[in-house]
Amino acid sequence: MKSLTELTFDNRFARLGDAFSTEVAPEPIAEPRLVVASPAAMAVLDLDPALAEEPVFAELFAGHKLWSTAAPRAMVYSGHQFGVYNPRLGDGRGLLLGEVLNDAGEHWDLHLKGAGQTPYSRMGDGRAVLRSSIREFLASEALHALGIPTSRALCVTGSSTPVWREKQETAAMLLRLAPSHVRFGHFEYFYYTGQAEQLKTLGEFVLREYFPDCLPQEQPYAALFREVVERNAALIAQWQAYGFCHGVMNTDNMSILGITFDYGPYAFLDDFDARHICNHSDDAGRYSFSNQVPIAHWNLAALAQALTPFVEADSLRATLALFLPLYQAHYLDLMRRRLGLSSAEDGDEERVQHLLQLMQGSAIDYTQFFRRLGADAPTEALASLREDFVDLAGFDAWAADYRARSARDGGSQDERRARMHAVNPKYILRNYLAQQAIEAAERGDYGPVRELHAVLSRPFDEQPGREPYAERPPDWGKHLAISCSS
Ligand code: AMP
Ligand code: MG
Ligand code: MG
Repeated sequence: MKSLTELTFDNRFARLGDAFSTEVAPEPIAEPRLVVASPAAMAVLDLDPALAEEPVFAELFAGHKLWSTAAPRAMVYSGHQFGVYNPRLGDGRGLLLGEVLNDAGEHWDLHLKGAGQTPYSRMGDGRAVLRSSIREFLASEALHALGIPTSRALCVTGSSTPVWREKQETAAMLLRLAPSHVRFGHFEYFYYTGQAEQLKTLGEFVLREYFPDCLPQEQPYAALFREVVERNAALIAQWQAYGFCHGVMNTDNMSILGITFDYGPYAFLDDFDARHICNHSDDAGRYSFSNQVPIAHWNLAALAQALTPFVEADSLRATLALFLPLYQAHYLDLMRRRLGLSSAEDGDEERVQHLLQLMQGSAIDYTQFFRRLGADAPTEALASLREDFVDLAGFDAWAADYRARSARDGGSQDERRARMHAVNPKYILRNYLAQQAIEAAERGDYGPVRELHAVLSRPFDEQPGREPYAERPPDWGKHLAISCSS
């Protein structure tokens, strides 16, 4: 375990130079206080969780102090926002502090979000409010605990610095960890500005540092694109299988590593609804739950365009065509597991589709359904789940088929329960839970957000006394309006 001062930085991205990022010092927020820290994320940096209680911890992550080997910089990128190309985005309110080299020899980007204005702030104030920082913190650590690839969150610090949104709020900072902050939009920026040399430098950097297995291949960039397609197919399958709606799948929010990235108005589904739109500003539903699959494909096509200087268009097109079948295979595999099926059979895809259609019309809680399906033997579980469905004849047909399918799969109920509970979370980050924790934090009470984070760190475990966290939302909690910029 290290002390805070012992973190070692090795700033590879900063060394790429001024065409890629601009040196900017963080602008501290006043009267910093620790809101919540993640012991699991601290462990990534070999930090003892107890260090979070030291005043210097909040000072460091509120921009008051800096390590001498850190090199804070704002990255430049562009991207397609809601399908429209924006030629210049970049870190408008976050800074890459540098890359920490941990004891395992891994580099981890430390990104301080809400660190003040940068050359890329456009009209923005460079700040993040407490509520959005808490939301990103909770989601990062919750998805990680579910086994979904994601950037991580070390901590949130609050302050007395006023920030104006629709009402007056206070500024906060989030310390985000990720192996890399390179986005699809980084490639697009150098491609569309015609900076061929820099595009090559970026590509070589990404290959060397993050995709070394692609380097010795005959066509390293073609191999890189294939890897990115594969990772995204696997990632989006996990989102769809667990009911995660990202909300702002702009290409600047897509990580080249295929991890969940840049949390805004995200939501986990409460009631299953394929058409769910979690982003209040997304009038057309471009980023609705079921659209995430074609949108990921669209985003990969945008990345492919930026790789055309390196790879033949036909080759990129052929790789792009792999996305949907790869996605479908991953998704079906995950849904089989969620249904407790340890083998594959023809007809499983239709079984899953039929179930989702039945759920769609009946306001079925997506998370509870699978947990309850595994809790008891199929006959009993199905009998108790049945009463929530509107189309009873449809449900009975599905249930009879599932019971038979489950019997063919074999095994004891104890095995089945253990297998299902290991993939079907009891606790999920519901919007209303985040909202309650945020409202308490805004009043200065950080107990609820810390407790919620603790619950979500063990989503598959029974946690006696914490059952209320597994409950469906109250009516007010079903219609929370959350939009992009905060
Ligand atoms: P996002 O919607 O969070 O993905 O942000 C899109 C772009 O707007 C990025 O370039 C951000 O850095 C920038 N941005 C978002 N909020 C702010 C803000 N409060 N101040 C400055 N830039 C911002
Ligand atoms: Mg973004
Ligand atoms: Mg953002």
